[in-house]
Amino acid sequence: MSAPGSDADSQAVAARLSAWLRAPASWAHQCEECGRGAAFGFEDMRKTMHWFCSAHRASGEALLRAG
Ligand SMILES: [Zn+2]
Repeated sequence: MSAPGSDADSQAVAARLSAWLRAPASWAHQCEECGRGAAFGFEDMRKTMHWFCSAHRASGEALLRAG
């Protein structure tokens, strides 16, 4: 077992984590604006779900207001 907290270990963990976050397959939904992982879902007037990432969640909120 390698020393905990070594630079090599933390860099490897960070690389795996960032790869996981970038992979669309890691997310149940993709942002409708940029295609990245979408954490925020909005239901429009027709009960259709629209998904957006944190950077574009305002677009989802605008959808709700548009109705
Ligand atoms: Zn987005």
